[in-house]
Parts: sequence; structure tokens; C-alpha cells
Amino acid sequence: MQLIDNFNFAGKKAIVRVDFNVPLNKETGEVSDDTRIRGALPTIKKIIADGGSAILMSHMGRPKQNPDPKFSLKQIISAIEKNLGQSIQFCDDCMKADEQAAALKPGEVLLLENLRFYEEEEGKPRGEFASDEEKKAAKNALKEKQKDFAKKLASYADVYVNDAFGTAHRAHGSTAVIADYFDEPNKMFGFLINNELKAMDKVLNEAQKPFTAIMGGAKVSDKIMIIENLLDRVDNLIIGGGMTYTFIKAQGGQIGNSLCEEDKLDLALEVLKKAEAKGVKVFLPTDAVNADKFDKDANTNTSKTNETPEGWMGLDIADETIKTFSDVISNSKTVLWNGPMGVFEFDKFAKGTSAVAQAVAKATQENGAFTLIGGGDSVAAINKNKLADKVSYVSTGGGAMLEYMEGKVLPGIKAIRGK
Ligand code: AMP
Repeated sequence: MQLIDNFNFAGKKAIVRVDFNVPLNKETGEVSDDTRIRGALPTIKKIIADGGSAILMSHMGRPKQNPDPKFSLKQIISAIEKNLGQSIQFCDDCMKADEQAAALKPGEVLLLENLRFYEEEEGKPRGEFASDEEKKAAKNALKEKQKDFAKKLASYADVYVNDAFGTAHRAHGSTAVIADYFDEPNKMFGFLINNELKAMDKVLNEAQKPFTAIMGGAKVSDKIMIIENLLDRVDNLIIGGGMTYTFIKAQGGQIGNSLCEEDKLDLALEVLKKAEAKGVKVFLPTDAVNADKFDKDANTNTSKTNETPEGWMGLDIADETIKTFSDVISNSKTVLWNGPMGVFEFDKFAKGTSAVAQAVAKATQENGAFTLIGGGDSVAAINKNKLADKVSYVSTGGGAMLEYMEGKVLPGIKAIRGK
């Protein structure tokens, strides 16, 4: 596999799949969080510094037509220029960039318009279909057109670099199919994907013990596969968030109006049994902060998690649990954290998630632990607590990270690495 570190881009044109799916301020239209742009800078700067030129391609949002000004990447040109420290060119149709790409000089950067203006990118046919058969036929036809789409993009460049970890779990034109049009020495991951893979592989394959996985968030069903894949690896499994109550109810506890997936009760018991058989210690919250309604101004009380009063719902972990979880986390040598401990978007129910964020930072700083945080909401929680630089690695890809940690093959990774 070609490595970007060893590659010399001098005189080459590189087409780079970046993830510039950035949020825009609804009033000003400006980029409100440029984390993803900053994430791609090392790769772009290396190409330029070597004397190559970069053709950047990305999606933004979920446009349904071509063009769709609301989702135009034109809106982020100035944010890219500001971060890159140089001006860039723009092509307002990603299928019509031949001339601009051919004219690019060393050190220059060209941004292509939103790839998803074309349905070929995702390979998902748009519009209404009279029947499933018709939809299937349209999808098959589109698969063929997707190859042409990817081939066209490939034709602009000598080299393909994939640095969009956030879409690596999608088999899209620009993330996977395009790789077929470059030979092995001329396709590679960018620095961002390399770093993501290094961090995840370290946790999956070289974890120092004790290894603690912290799983939070709303639903058991979203996290069950990752939990199952981790049971062979971890020493401690901490469960928090809304998921808690499916486990508590399965064990016969009173959960009031707390979130519960009734059809996952057996599954929850199975997980606990499997964990026990594998010698994994499971930590479930023992006490909770409850609310009388799902609201930022709700009235609150605290109770044991298995004695939630009728009419109340558990929305955060309480002090006893915070202490237990924090002790386990700060004594760990490897920590993986995915999903908040409570409804941290409401200040009244953010304490548990903040405490876990602090404990993860403490494990990193004071215990020399390797700590990986992934999944949109736990990343938001780490950022909210201003601890991003106090942990080992914060993943940029929610769904992609989750799937990789579940043990799945990601099409965007396989297209370059072969597995
Ligand atoms: P996920 O995307 O699965 O990681 O879930 C994150 C969401 O779970 C956040 O929006 C939280 O507000 C929500 N959440 C966390 N704890 C609870 C809880 N106890 N009850 C309901 N929702 C929760």
C-alpha cells in the first residue's frame, strides 16, 4: 500500500476526497465549525509543499437536485482559503472540470462543486418509483453510471488521495469506486485517515490493560454490535445514557418513564451473560438524576436506577455512579468512549457526561492511558468541556468509526488497503 509520507507529489495532480461537510451558520451562511477543514490541511499542505497541485472534492449535506445553492461548496471557499493561507479556484460542476484541472500549476488548489449534486456519487436513484422492482432496476442502471462518474473524476488527476474518514463507510463514487481507476502506487490515504486508522487499530489490537470501553447514548440497538465486538477485548464495560434502562428493566428494575427498548430486553441479558462468561466487568449506573418531563427546565430528583419513581425518567447518572465510573476510567490504560452518559444537551443533565470527560482526560494525563473518543455526541461533549487536547485522539468520523470498531470492512478503506 502506498503511504502518503513517502510519496513525492512534485509535478503531479492529486485528486483528494476530503470531508468538507461542515455546518453553516443559518443567518450569516458562514462556516460555524471548521474542524473538518482543519483536519484536511496536513494532506493538502504536503501536496502543495512537494510541488504538486490539489483537486479537492467533497459532499455537503443531502442535496436532491443539481444545482442546489443551499448546498453549494462555494459557501466555504473563504473558510478554506483562510485556513490554507492561499486563494483557491472553484469549478461549479464537478463533471466539467477538465480544462481547469489541466491548467492547474504546481502549488495551486481547485475545489470541485458538491459531488452529491449528482446521484451517481451515492449511487442512490432519486425520484419516485412505482414498484420495488422499478427502483431496483434504476439502482442497477445507476451503478453503471457511477463507474463513469468516478472515471471522469479520476481523469482529472495522476494520483488519488482519500482523506474523508467521515464517509469511509460508504461505497460512493468518490470514496471507493474511483480507486479502481488508479494503480496501486498512485492511490493512498491522507494523513487524517492514517491517523484515524492508527488510533482505532491501537485500541482494537494493541490495547494496554486495563482496557475500559464506555458506551453511552440513546439506544442499545445502535451500540450492540460494537459492544459485542469489544467483549473479547475489554476488561471493563461501562454502560450509561438512555441505554442503561433497557439493561435495568431486563434485570427486573423499576424504570418509570425512562427510555427503554422493550424488544431488546433479552438481548441486554444476553450481553450481560456473555460479558460474565468472558470475565468482563460490567458497570451499570446505580443512581440517576430523574426528570418529570423531557425538558431542559424539568423538575428533578435522584433515585437508584432500579427504583425510578413512577412518572419520572432518568436523564443523567448521579453522584455514586459518577464516582464509580470515574475511578474505573482514571485507573485504565486504554479507554474507548462512545456516547454521552445523559441528556448533556440540557445543562441540568450534563454533569455525568462532563465528569466522564474529566476522568478520560485524567486517565490520559496522569495514568498515561491511550484514550480514543468517537461518535458525534461524545466528541461534542469533549469539546464542550474543552478537553479535546487532553485526550489521545478524537475521531472525526461518527458512523465510520462505529462501523470500524464493530469489526466491519469499510468500503473506502478497502478500496485502498484491500481489506
Ligand atoms: P447516540 O447518538 O446514540 O450516541 O445518542 C446520543 C443521544 O442520547 C444524546 O442526544 C442524548 O441526549 C441521548 N441520551 C443520553 N442519555 C439519555 C437518557 N438517559 N435518556 C434519553 N436520552 C438520552
